[in-house]
Amino acid sequence: MLNAPLGIFGGTFDPIHKGHIYPVLEAANITEINKIAMIPCYIPSHKSAACVSSEHRLKMIELICDEHPILYPDARDINRGVATYSVETLSELRAEFPTRPLCFFIGSDSLQTLLTWHKWQQILSLCHFVVCTRQETTTCSSENMPQDQALQDLLQQRQTNNPVDLHNNLAGHIFLANTQPLTMSSTLLRKQLEAGKSVEELIPSSILTYIHQHKLYQPSNDLC
Ligand code: ATP
Repeated sequence: MLNAPLGIFGGTFDPIHKGHIYPVLEAANITEINKIAMIPCYIPSHKSAACVSSEHRLKMIELICDEHPILYPDARDINRGVATYSVETLSELRAEFPTRPLCFFIGSDSLQTLLTWHKWQQILSLCHFVVCTRQETTTCSSENMPQDQALQDLLQQRQTNNPVDLHNNLAGHIFLANTQPLTMSSTLLRKQLEAGKSVEELIPSSILTYIHQHKLYQPSNDLC
């Protein structure tokens, strides 16, 4: 008998924005996943560097978790103090939760690059993927999203349209949650902040207050 699935949402979160939060909450609602670990990376595997310190990124995640009790902060990657591949984090979680399905929430842009991820096959043996629609992708279905034939083939084998599969199996399925696309990114947010433009549409007020209090993402900080 399996326990309730654990959601996992990893990223740079530099800073966290509404495009992170609302699609994941919507997908969690669709899949009936009631707990999601928010795991900010120490140094992103696919990116050059984060703009603000790990402590600030984690603090902003803690503020969001206070507002949405389904989410909780997990600082394991930051605490490791070295760059970590997703497969290492997931292996650790699998050892901690041997009877809980693990559901890795990602944006559809991340699904497009999945086959380039370090040890992606092993990752799929450790967790499911719950994919949130992102940007130009208006719907998130296997017909119109993946361009790559190999990814199409993988979806043919692994995609499920039934969230129950995420509850009844430890790992291995891909669920394309047809979440409402929110066209925003941390990069856009940083640019807007640098230019002194309004970002209220993009970011929860608690995060904006934190950013202002700590003078983060200021032009003088030599933004990414
Ligand atoms: P950056 O602009 O710095 O590249 P980002 O906004 O893409 O950052 P990340 O922290 O790199 O944010 O993303 C973490 C996860 O959140 C990834 O799986 C990504 O696909 C997903 N994600 C980010 N923004 C959105 C969005 N607007 N809609 C759906 N998923 C998103």
